[in-house]
Amino acid sequence: MNFTIKIPGLEDVWITKVEKMEDRIALHVEMAVKVHKCPGCGERTKKIHDYRIQKIKHLKWFERLTYLFYKKRRYACSCGKRFAE
Ligand SMILES: [Zn+2]
Repeated sequence: MNFTIKIPGLEDVWITKVEKMEDRIALHVEMAVKVHKCPGCGERTKKIHDYRIQKIKHLKWFERLTYLFYKKRRYACSCGKRFAE
């Protein structure tokens, strides 16, 4: 998929997968990889440490309950600090 949606509390996220079930929709989203500033040392990094799936909230979308699975990315800095985007 190639579009973004606005979700309160999140910036533009990519929808990577949409699962439609009878009475609900599951959206799998993630943010684009970008350079982050390390909160520990201030260096800039875009090295990915790992991912956590976070089930965020239900929205009403097309009159159906929508679950959001946010693939939250964590970055690693050369100083050893790891932090979420
Ligand atoms: Zn650092």
